[in-house]
Amino acid sequence: MKRVYLDNAATTQMDPQVLEFMVAAMNQYQGNPSSIHAEGRAARAMIEQARKKIANFLGASIGEIIFTSGGTESNNTALKCSVRDLGVRRIISSPTEHHCVLHSLDTIARSGMAEVKYLPVDIKGYPDMAVLEQWLAEDDTKTLVSLMHANNEIGTMINLEEVSRLCQQYNAMFHTDTVQTMSFFPFNLSEVKVNFLSGSAHKFHGPKGIGFLYMNKENIVKPFIDGGAQERNMRGGTENLHGIIGMAKAMEVAIENMEHNRMHITAVRNYFKSRLENEFSDIQFNGDPDNGNYKVLSVSFPATSKGDLLLFNLDINGVSVSGGSACSSGADQGSHVIAALHRDSDRKTIRFSFSHDNTNQEVDFVIDQLKKVLPELVKGTVASSV
Ligand code: PLP
Repeated sequence: MKRVYLDNAATTQMDPQVLEFMVAAMNQYQGNPSSIHAEGRAARAMIEQARKKIANFLGASIGEIIFTSGGTESNNTALKCSVRDLGVRRIISSPTEHHCVLHSLDTIARSGMAEVKYLPVDIKGYPDMAVLEQWLAEDDTKTLVSLMHANNEIGTMINLEEVSRLCQQYNAMFHTDTVQTMSFFPFNLSEVKVNFLSGSAHKFHGPKGIGFLYMNKENIVKPFIDGGAQERNMRGGTENLHGIIGMAKAMEVAIENMEHNRMHITAVRNYFKSRLENEFSDIQFNGDPDNGNYKVLSVSFPATSKGDLLLFNLDINGVSVSGGSACSSGADQGSHVIAALHRDSDRKTIRFSFSHDNTNQEVDFVIDQLKKVLPELVKGTVASSV
């Protein structure tokens, strides 16, 4: 049966070049990178090569890249260790962050070690920059601002330069979760000051369970995971050698093809958006689709007789998408992001997220399936009495 995968914000398929590179590396490099013999030294060299590559892509120094198990660990490390080790006593964030940030902030608030404040967000999901400036200006408590670059559910993006400038002006630190934008947008950390930044390979066609934390050299923290002296004493545990190699390769491939992929993904997504607008009544787009992350289109459908089973019905008809965020569990519990936008809660939200592998023909297939599962919304049809 034909299937179309439009859930690339949840995870991406591994790039074949990355897979091939990793399989070759698995055959060739099997030493423990901490061993001093030849096998160990060869494995260590591969890790350091990957670190250098990633640092170069970001305009960072080699010592500023720490390998982690993914975005969740990177965000936990930045938030919890900046409170524990750097004297941060206030964190300003937003209610639409990923759960790994929000739940870390809950833990921090419960510990009593720092105050946590959430900026208001507008209907498109933009955190209020005027309130951020007011809070930074009125209180000189040591502060970390934690705002995601692009929201994983609706794609709304902050202006990194603007937040960075404000943080510098008021002497605050800045953490940004770039899990959804890393390798899809250019970064130059030698120009935009960020203290911590998180990335995760499986979002850019690399392997799962590997990510990194960029940590500015001015604000080095102690390990979040205690153990051996791996990662220059920053994270204990034998390194995920093949994951690290695969992540650097995935980044290389994604960055080489960034412009081409951006144009393709934008075109396919816009084609989908215009077909939805032309053929379905009463649909809404969440976020700021013309200015946000080009790979995400969040669509709210009005309540219909089959609305509750929308995800299920699309799945059995060959379309893989998610409700709010698919990252924490398979269950659709309603989205904290959509709730924060104060949108009509009866509506059913679906996040369609695209990759360079998607085509207009796949969009046509998805539209056909949507018409099948949401017949009442197809323009020109008489409303059914169900
Ligand atoms: N942050 C954002 C914005 C995400 O979309 C995700 C993905 O699920 C994460 C963090 C967590 O990343 P990981 O799956 O690598 O732990």
